[in-house]
Amino acid sequence: MSFSYNSLMIAKELRKKYLDFFVGKGHQVVPSASLIPENDPTTLFISAGMQPLIPFLLGEVHPLDKRICSVQKCLRTVDIDNVGDSFHHTFLEMLGNWSLGDYWKEEAISWSFEFLTEYLKINPEKLSVTCFAGDQDAPKDEESAGIWRKLGIPVERIYFLSKEDNWWGPAGVTGPCGPDSEMFYDTGKEKCGSNCRPGCGCGKYFEIWNNVFMQYNKTAEGKFELLKQKNVDTGMGVERTISVLNGLDDDYQNELFAPIIAQIEEISKKKYLDEENKKPMRVIADHLRAASFLIADGVVPSNTDQGYILRRLIRRAIRHGRALHLHELFTAKVAESVIKKMSDVYPELLAEKQLIVEELSKEEEKFLKTIEEGLNFLNKEVKAYQFFENAAANEGRKLPYHGGRLGFDMYQTYGFPPEMTLEELKRIGVKIDDQVYWKGYQEKFDKHQQKSRIGAEKKFAGGLADHSEQVVKYHTATHLLHAALRKVLGEQVHQIGSNLTAERLRFDFTYPERVSDEQLKQVEGLVNQQIKADVPVVMEVMELDEARKQGALAFFEQKYGEKVKVYTIGGFSKEVCGGPHVKSTGEISQIEIFKEEAVGAGKRRIYARIK
Ligand code: ATP
Ligand code: MG
Repeated sequence: MSFSYNSLMIAKELRKKYLDFFVGKGHQVVPSASLIPENDPTTLFISAGMQPLIPFLLGEVHPLDKRICSVQKCLRTVDIDNVGDSFHHTFLEMLGNWSLGDYWKEEAISWSFEFLTEYLKINPEKLSVTCFAGDQDAPKDEESAGIWRKLGIPVERIYFLSKEDNWWGPAGVTGPCGPDSEMFYDTGKEKCGSNCRPGCGCGKYFEIWNNVFMQYNKTAEGKFELLKQKNVDTGMGVERTISVLNGLDDDYQNELFAPIIAQIEEISKKKYLDEENKKPMRVIADHLRAASFLIADGVVPSNTDQGYILRRLIRRAIRHGRALHLHELFTAKVAESVIKKMSDVYPELLAEKQLIVEELSKEEEKFLKTIEEGLNFLNKEVKAYQFFENAAANEGRKLPYHGGRLGFDMYQTYGFPPEMTLEELKRIGVKIDDQVYWKGYQEKFDKHQQKSRIGAEKKFAGGLADHSEQVVKYHTATHLLHAALRKVLGEQVHQIGSNLTAERLRFDFTYPERVSDEQLKQVEGLVNQQIKADVPVVMEVMELDEARKQGALAFFEQKYGEKVKVYTIGGFSKEVCGGPHVKSTGEISQIEIFKEEAVGAGKRRIYARIK
């Protein structure tokens, strides 16, 4: 660890400084809301400081004031697969200040600069910023850039980026949105190439703060009109800022994570600084920190919604524990270090300590039992093989090859990730070549895929033989409908189920209120546009992780490492799905939505038919 340029600052001081600073600028402090959104079944977790404030950003009067600030606990499931790098966490704390139709860019940017350079004493020469570059919808954000220049940031450190990087919203198809301006700390590393700039993933630039300027209202016609109530929404990550302030480029070495990592070192008798231990230790520290906070907010492991995410986090931590050869119960011990570190600011952790320890241990025992059953099976297989090997020397290559296929069975039956089986085989002394193992695994996997495909097609043909062509059309229409609903009602909408006959499709999804006739018309219009454009439907097979990375929707339970089929319809829809689908959307001809109704709290149902 190197503390190169700055005096140490700990998170406790940072939170206090931040709130004090903005109180000094006339803000009211609101306490952190729970990680679980209140009265909002469309999203599982609070993922940014602004989320609990959405009604007020949309114009509702805030009971406290027009100037608000907070330290909000957040959980970002989208970052689960990023955990393992040095700066993405699932649980994070976000500092934020808001103007609800009050101050604007001049104040927001100047205060950000003042806070960073005068209160946190960050050398202004180390700061780079980004502003919106402008496009057909809205002009270049010269206003923000001008303010940065006035504050002393030279033009070469002001980058203009497109919508992809420097624009927020709207949350649905219409509503408030606008440009943002992000602040980056330059670590001083060499640029990774001529295109290296803030936002580049190489690690030279560390993003610490984002100021969003809600300036426009996007109308149903796709126009961007200036808003009457302009808002400022900012978010600054506590974990990353603390690293920057201590000259660290790894959050897990900062004061917030260090005691948790130390605990994992202690339990495993391994060193974090040994490169091979970093990733598993980071995952364990992050996931069990998140799990502790979730349990404190009332979530318990289950197979649905928040409980499912919690279960995934705990099991993922346990799996990474095996890379450290942790075979004893360890999650509760790690959680204790989280509670000790964080409960001065989040007393709910201490209040729920017993529950956290119990739930973690229960889940861990359950998962270990599954693992144990799997291992027993594996050991039996290996023993049988050894016996066999002694009997016939020339069968010596059989298990190593067979091993991959065994890996597949272990995955199917016990949910063992194949790399864990490989690791285990090596551990018990089977001589096995990685390549041979993976080849065997892949072969069995492909065979299985083929079989289940034939099975599915048979079933499909069997039940719906007369109408299968029609049903395939409805199936593709379902994907278009799903994408269109998300475009009109917002990304929170997700499919819960669907049911197809040759006469109609039925589609269930999450949404808290009635979908208006106008919105239904919009949805129908978007689907029919895609049909009219006769867009090819393209299928690819890839790993689930890759599919997720490419933005494919995958709402039904798929397992980690699994190969999946991804159906893409132009730039409009991308979904993990078993198929089958039409070759091109033109085959469907127009659809009409003929009914919309509620099916329980927060769930809606749509019926549509092909005209
Ligand atoms: P990134 O591009 O690095 O994933 P982001 O653009 O998703 O970040 P914002 O949504 O703008 O981040 O969030 C505001 C601030 O919150 C960021 O500037 C950063 O300091 C912090 N932050 C966001 N995501 C994470 C995360 N997964 N872990 C830690 N801090 C985060
Ligand atoms: Mg950002």
